[in-house]
Amino acid sequence: MWGDLPDPVAGPGEVLIDVEACGVGLTVLNCINGDLDNSPDLLPRIPGHELVGRVVDAGPGADSSLVGRRVVAYFYLTCGTCASCLAGRDPQCSNLNGFVGVHRDGGYAPKVALPGGNVIVVPEGLDPVAATVVPDAVATPVHVAERAGIGPGDRVAVFGAGGGVGIHMIQVARLRGATVAGLDLAKFDEIESLGARPVDAMNLNTVSNLFDDGPPTVVIDLVGTAATARWGIDHLAMGGRLVMLATFPNRPVPIEARETVFRELSIFGSRYSWKSQVAEAARLVADGSIKPIISEIRGPGAVPELHDLLRAGELVGRGALDWSLT
Ligand SMILES: [Zn+2]
Repeated sequence: MWGDLPDPVAGPGEVLIDVEACGVGLTVLNCINGDLDNSPDLLPRIPGHELVGRVVDAGPGADSSLVGRRVVAYFYLTCGTCASCLAGRDPQCSNLNGFVGVHRDGGYAPKVALPGGNVIVVPEGLDPVAATVVPDAVATPVHVAERAGIGPGDRVAVFGAGGGVGIHMIQVARLRGATVAGLDLAKFDEIESLGARPVDAMNLNTVSNLFDDGPPTVVIDLVGTAATARWGIDHLAMGGRLVMLATFPNRPVPIEARETVFRELSIFGSRYSWKSQVAEAARLVADGSIKPIISEIRGPGAVPELHDLLRAGELVGRGALDWSLT
């Protein structure tokens, strides 16, 4: 429990944050499982990377104008000085120091200290629980949409559409003018309520003709099995784009090089989000363009229950810890 750990202080270049809320999603479980790093010397560690809070102190050399501002954490501990960071391509940082909630403590505690460059100011009127979707569940789709060049006329198929990233991916793609089909094994009502065509992906061999006016121009694969990726390659339109986001090991996908040539397919990965896109995600939620889908909001004592719901696949969108419910 956090109560057994000393209160953090803002060290050089760091800010201290009073945590108001923290998102609960599958990535947190992956972090806890050690998928991103499983070194024993990282323990004990407080998880939670989707944290929202108010800056209450700035350490030596940190930007003191941040004090009093509501911020969200940026997941990756980037250096801020390499060529990628300077170009704003933060997830490509060549001196990555790890991840919030894995290599530094995160938001499953009432206070957290983070490097000043790892917090992003959000609009003051943005509700802190709503803001928990910003730093990952909305920012990641904003990055995907930019990578895939999604715009009016695109037909976008989303695998894993009922999950925390998927349910917001639907919204970001529609906001940019695309028609969207959401594929999943459940959560069809929620997918439909956001304006996407719900599609049962249980038996992929029978899934085709998702759109009235042609095959998908973009397939976004948040599931990452060989079958979903292969479905994308088989069903994409001429010039289509297949975007991969899952990071599970040992899932090779067979492909003939000429398949990509004949239909001029683009197949690429999408890695988290730029800091500027996290700020854009905050604006989209604050102005109502994107509706935060958070199906369970609990006090911090209910972390185990939320994790159980996640493991059972019973959370629609995200869960959130609300520290005001302590
Ligand atoms: Zn860097």
